[in-house]
Amino acid sequence: MNYIDKETILESITLTQALAYDGIEIKRNRTACMFCNASRGDTLKVEEPVFFCHKCNAKGNVINYWMNTRHLSFPAAIDNLASAFGLSVEGISSEEMNNIRLAREEKKRQKEQKEREKALLRKRLDVKYDAILKWYKEKAFVEPFSPHPQYKRAEYLLYVIGDILDKMFDRNKDIQEWAYGVGSKIMLGELDYESNPNVKIRAEL
Ligand SMILES: [Zn+2]
Repeated sequence: MNYIDKETILESITLTQALAYDGIEIKRNRTACMFCNASRGDTLKVEEPVFFCHKCNAKGNVINYWMNTRHLSFPAAIDNLASAFGLSVEGISSEEMNNIRLAREEKKRQKEQKEREKALLRKRLDVKYDAILKWYKEKAFVEPFSPHPQYKRAEYLLYVIGDILDKMFDRNKDIQEWAYGVGSKIMLGELDYESNPNVKIRAEL
């Protein structure tokens, strides 16, 4: 949630102020373009509330300027501008806003970390599935009349891993979470396959 919105920024901070913040002076509404600084001359024209470069066609308002000079997303640029210019809304100081922003970034970081862990878990389960399937095809039926003692377990594991890999993409988030939980247990060897696994697995749903 943004406490400062786009309109507040555009009403409160001029392009000229943002340029001045970056130490850029405007003479007769013009300055050197920071987006195509290879070109000579003051090609960037500032006509509040927008800028325009006739060399590289860069254009926009103060938020676009902030985004492009700092490689920020739109919401991040708004937060960052608000902090830089000490803007606050309804008693929220820029310091508090900064904390809100940091908390938001931390949450995003944790979410990304979790997504990476989930992807890794899926990959490891895929590898395990393939390994069991290979074993199953090669070893389980070598002697058809006396199957390998582990073959039932392999069969069951193939069923469970296949099932939870599907359920990791279930539309229901709770089922997804459950599938990742069981997947982790399998990889940690914590799943008790021996004691009536079907009942155990199904009971958790
Ligand atoms: Zn330019």
